[in-house]
Amino acid sequence: MQRAPRRGLVSCLVCLVFLVMASTGARAQEEGPWLRVLGTAQDGGIPHAACTCRRCEAARTDPARRRLIASLALIVPGEDEHRRVYLVDATPDIRDQLESLRDVRDAPVGRVDRDPVDGVLLTHAHLGHYLGLAFFGFEAVSTTRLPVHCTPAMAEYLRSNGPWDQLVRLENIALHSHRVGEPFDLDGVRITPILVPHRDEYSDTVAYRFEGPERTVLYLPDTEPWRTWEAPLPDPASIFEGVDVAIVDGSFYSPDELPGRAVSAIGHPLMTETMDLLARRVGEGTLEVFFTHLNHSNPALEPDSDALKEIHRRGFHVLEEGQVFPLE
Ligand SMILES: [Zn+2]
Ligand SMILES: [Zn+2]
Ligand SMILES: [Zn+2]
Repeated sequence: MQRAPRRGLVSCLVCLVFLVMASTGARAQEEGPWLRVLGTAQDGGIPHAACTCRRCEAARTDPARRRLIASLALIVPGEDEHRRVYLVDATPDIRDQLESLRDVRDAPVGRVDRDPVDGVLLTHAHLGHYLGLAFFGFEAVSTTRLPVHCTPAMAEYLRSNGPWDQLVRLENIALHSHRVGEPFDLDGVRITPILVPHRDEYSDTVAYRFEGPERTVLYLPDTEPWRTWEAPLPDPASIFEGVDVAIVDGSFYSPDELPGRAVSAIGHPLMTETMDLLARRVGEGTLEVFFTHLNHSNPALEPDSDALKEIHRRGFHVLEEGQVFPLE
């Protein structure tokens, strides 16, 4: 009989310590908006669907090597401790990614949260970047007028094609279209969609520039190689001007990983080319670069690879899930 209260006291003390630690951590982050990384893989995921390559098999046996599909959350502290949360791309891994945000804001107990995020920003209409939107529909979360921010072309595609048109018709989502190059504001964060060249079968493709009170992050998960950026597109180096952190397309490291395919046929800048493009800024210490959207063929996925060593030697990084980038 005497032990129970003592155990209770101990667990209360443990709880208190955790509460103090949690509130201190929360306060440290509450000062301003921040981005949190929810995924770092190319559209097929890692392990990639139906692949038994060395890296995919390693990811099956070692959960630390799994990677969810590329996505970010923009998190903004609000009044009454209600944080605002925006997804940047809605991936097929959205169930796990929403789960990973449970520490960020309170959810109703014992039922579906019909309001799990405050909005979604979409980069383009490829499977890894928008299929997760379907989970906001009638068959699953069934949100009400969830704001979806995208370009006019992307909005038109969603409005005019099933099953996405049903989300619009049933008002699960509300489309907010923004012209490229024209900034808009989300809770004090200035966001600019930047047009980038890509295989644009169903929509155009954008990168997003997030300008917070102190820091600016560029998110560019998918683009054609830099050499294909021709007028009227800007000189690729210019889109990194004024940027503190760039999270960029790291699909492929080198042409060696795709035997039988010419470099010219690869629709992404190689990591080596991106490091050449941004070497000066990184060397000066005025820009930090993190690679995301890694394809399962990429040798940089292997912890002991020469590719990863070379990336680090040159002062660049591979993005990891859970990483946080303050905008203040
Ligand atoms: Zn992609
Ligand atoms: Zn594979
Ligand atoms: Zn794409």
